[in-house]
Amino acid sequence: MIIAIDGPAASGKGTVSRKLAAHYGLRHLDTGLLYRAVAKALLDASHAPGDEVRAIVAAKAINPARFDESALKRYEVGEAASVVSAIPGVRAALLDFQKEFAAAPSGAVLDGRDIGTVICPNAEVKIFVTAAPEVRAHRRTLELRGRGEKADEAAVLADIMSRDERDCSRSTAPLIQAPDAHLLDTSTLDIEGSFRAALALVERYRRG
Ligand code: C5P
Repeated sequence: MIIAIDGPAASGKGTVSRKLAAHYGLRHLDTGLLYRAVAKALLDASHAPGDEVRAIVAAKAINPARFDESALKRYEVGEAASVVSAIPGVRAALLDFQKEFAAAPSGAVLDGRDIGTVICPNAEVKIFVTAAPEVRAHRRTLELRGRGEKADEAAVLADIMSRDERDCSRSTAPLIQAPDAHLLDTSTLDIEGSFRAALALVERYRRG
């Protein structure tokens, strides 16, 4: 069974995906880490995230087995990731790895922005997780502070809105709900409530 989870930043899609994968014993891929790794490679080398040629070279060279997740989750890396992810050659370079991950016999849970539309259009279950921008900004602020990073909620909200705009308006694989995806709005749900709602959608599929 392939479960495709898409949605904007801090919608809760990562948490829901991890919990679904643990529940069903499936492997999980947070595809945002791939774009973040490309962005971090550019930032580390003091190159602009919009440098297309260098970004494509970096995308071809990433090694997911050696990702340092806490470094990749840093705020500035996420911002730069949304710039590199709009480069078609970067997306093309990361395509095969994601498709191969999804094609493993037991299935998988993948989360990102284009899983239900581009990476796994034939996924058995597709869920588009969203939440009000203010709720997402609040969550992201708490998450960043929890990791010891400074975060001003108004600035985080402004960045989330501009990231949404970039992710939704790019020409290649924009963030969009697949026509056959279930919408899950987590604005008023906590982690357990979000997971239960997603589980109910998967169970509905499993019961036919
Ligand atoms: O999900 P996360 O916030 O880690 O993703 C970082 C950035 O990577 C997103 O803002 C988005 O621009 C990009 N991304 C993408 N396609 C994916 C996953 C992430 O374009 N499948």
